[in-house]
Amino acid sequence: CGIIGILGKSSVAHELVDALKRLEYRGYDSAGVATIEPDGTFARRRAVGKLRNLEAVLSESPLAGAIGIGHTRWATHGGVTEKNAHPHATERVAVVHNGIIENFRELKTFLIGAGHEFKSETDTEVVAHLVTRYLDEGLPPKEAVAATLKLLTGAYALLFLFPTDGDLLIGARSGPPLAIGWGDGEMYFGSDAIALAPFTDRVTYLEDGDYAVLHRSGAAIYDAADNPVQRPMVISNAAA
Ligand code: GLU
Repeated sequence: CGIIGILGKSSVAHELVDALKRLEYRGYDSAGVATIEPDGTFARRRAVGKLRNLEAVLSESPLAGAIGIGHTRWATHGGVTEKNAHPHATERVAVVHNGIIENFRELKTFLIGAGHEFKSETDTEVVAHLVTRYLDEGLPPKEAVAATLKLLTGAYALLFLFPTDGDLLIGARSGPPLAIGWGDGEMYFGSDAIALAPFTDRVTYLEDGDYAVLHRSGAAIYDAADNPVQRPMVISNAAA
């Protein structure tokens, strides 16, 4: 329901949770974050209930990664459990999702037939497995995401983190809003400018069907037909 992604200069776990707190007004039943740690390992923490539960997990097992994604979930498919909380991950990609993948049943049946093992009951997890399939076939991350988006029907804001690349986040939007935040050597994705306000007031809203590739050096945006596009940067007046 709420989404945040940060390509930062130092540990981002605290900022991820702070941004999720600013999205609490949307409502949620569970929350989670994932990072790539300084030693290169992928790490994830999730908790059912309020963000203070996730904070308690993080104080028990802290994260130090400078790249991460976070999510507050309002369950639509699959019960309110830790294993259904986002991010959903394979060894190759982690995903947070706001919305509903309407054709997830067909996709899941196909993926199970192809040998994929599911760990949750969510509609979202099919997205992680589809991207994984394309990565396994040798597509680069951007192309794997673009090919996956063409298989999805429904409504989504999605973020993708790739455990082997500490300088890459990809986001996609079809329905729910998703904004890019422009920092100083840091880049962000967020559900809205309110979530990004503590970090930057320079935001670019993706249009329906867009996806964007973020590195710390900037962003490239593509439309649903994979053409590079420019979207305006605006100065947000959301209160930090
Ligand atoms: N449909 C997804 C789920 O149930 C995402 C729900 C949301 O927008 O938080 O996990």
